[in-house]
Amino acid sequence: MADRMLQFVRLSQAQPEKRGVGERRKDFGEIYREFEPAAAAQQASRCSQCGVPFCQVHCPLSNNIPDWLKLTAEGRLEEAYEVASATNTFPEICGRICPQDRLCEGNCVIEKGFESVTIGAVEKYIADTAWERGWVTAPRAKAELRQSVGIIGAGPAGLAAAERLRSRGYQVHVYDRHDRAGGLMIYGIPNFKLEKEVVVRRWRSFEQGGIRFHLNCAIGRDVTLPELRERHDAVFIATGVYKARDIGGEGAGLEGIVPALDYLIASNRDNLGDTVPEFASGALNAAGKRVVVLGGGDTAMDCVRTAVRQGAASVTCMYRRDKANMPGSMREVANAEEEGVEFMWLAAPEGFEGADGHVSGVRAVRMHLGLPDATGRQQVVPIKGSGFTQGCDLAIKALGFDPEDLPAMFGEKALTVTRWGTVKVDHRTMMTDLPGVFAGGDIVRGASLVVWAIRDGRDAAERIDAYLKEQAAPAAVAAE
Ligand code: FAD
Ligand code: SF4
Ligand code: SF4
Repeated sequence: MADRMLQFVRLSQAQPEKRGVGERRKDFGEIYREFEPAAAAQQASRCSQCGVPFCQVHCPLSNNIPDWLKLTAEGRLEEAYEVASATNTFPEICGRICPQDRLCEGNCVIEKGFESVTIGAVEKYIADTAWERGWVTAPRAKAELRQSVGIIGAGPAGLAAAERLRSRGYQVHVYDRHDRAGGLMIYGIPNFKLEKEVVVRRWRSFEQGGIRFHLNCAIGRDVTLPELRERHDAVFIATGVYKARDIGGEGAGLEGIVPALDYLIASNRDNLGDTVPEFASGALNAAGKRVVVLGGGDTAMDCVRTAVRQGAASVTCMYRRDKANMPGSMREVANAEEEGVEFMWLAAPEGFEGADGHVSGVRAVRMHLGLPDATGRQQVVPIKGSGFTQGCDLAIKALGFDPEDLPAMFGEKALTVTRWGTVKVDHRTMMTDLPGVFAGGDIVRGASLVVWAIRDGRDAAERIDAYLKEQAAPAAVAAE
């Protein structure tokens, strides 16, 4: 191993090449190019094969990173894919969109004094190669079981659970109110981070494996939760969080002030070739406009970068804290800066100005960072008399998401939620207060990450399997 691995002392870190700013500002294609095979092997060989791999400890899926790095360095890519896909349902997606700087790569030990191994890009390379060479197979049921599971939500949590359960032979039905599977991976996250074909090919492979999709089917509108429980032996709720946090203040009802997800869904649909009247009319299209995005998280970064690509006249991101305190991934902030987005730190919106019923500016106040609060985070304090107006034709609100009122939506008052509105589960079993009804992903954690949703989906599949086995064999258990 010694001559092939531990190359970090000799080789510098290199991420796959990024497309030039001038080129990528004009289209929605992914911005990172694929590694050349030699570069992937070289980068993988920088790993020092730690006895206690902190990269793995800080990967929500406990991916066996050192092993697949070593196999990649040795050119044994099919085996590398086998290892990578044993713990991750979507390695090609996590490799693209995990905030690696906060997870695996941020905890790689050679970060100290050297630069971390490029784990995410190698994971993407392994999985993309597997797709290209036909090594990816549809979920295969060893034997067909009679019991069925209904999954509400075709996002990463629902799909990860579906794949695991189908592989064990259950009859799996996935319900989603949208017309495509993928959840926020299809309609939230833009193409320049995750091209939609990458999601669609997994969805197609799941269909080939016998998972049945019921799209355009909203639970609560088309089918109630009690009806779904009648149909299936177990139910998994993975509906995500969609209630956008709002901003009030004077002028909040003016035209041209839009929620981030409406804006991103319209753009993603347009890129998918759908007819989107609000995009065509200009209501959800930044072309030629002065755009202000309110917020500093990943959703805000996706909005500013979408607006650049739509040909906005100017794009400003207004955030009440400073750059060091931004919740969004630093890599995405750097990409936005390169693409010409202007950041207005330490500024908070207070209301809007308008002309003829349409927004013409965001009224804001400058902030400064005060003393830390109980959580240790510095508080933001408005600076007296510092009010100003930032002119705009489109204001996009990207202030975060809360859960919808699920008990009311599902017509099931007995479904217990926490005081934040997330679904309450027993964390050992992942079961809600309703027997046989499980939950996971954002609807349990609050707005989180794709990789955590996958983890929840896989864990829920284990718990559901254990529950169904127990249900199927009460006599055998009693006889023991
Ligand atoms: P979702 O992906 O939200 O899927 C839930 C599904 O349930 C949806 O398809 C929805 O239509 C369906 N549904 C809801 N209610 C019903 C109902 N009543 N009946 C039927 N179906 C229903 N994470 C990252 O790791 N990296 C990123 O770069 C990143 N970027 C993001 C960008 C944006 C703009 C947003 C909004 C989020 C981003 N995230 C990112 C977060 C990530 O997308 C979520 O954490 C993840 O998708 C949650 O998965 P989920 O399966 O719990 O829910
Ligand atoms: Fe890193 Fe995410 Fe892959 Fe885990 S799943 S190894 S955190 S990129
Ligand atoms: Fe390799 Fe870094 Fe993980 Fe250690 S922490 S096993 S060097 S990737």
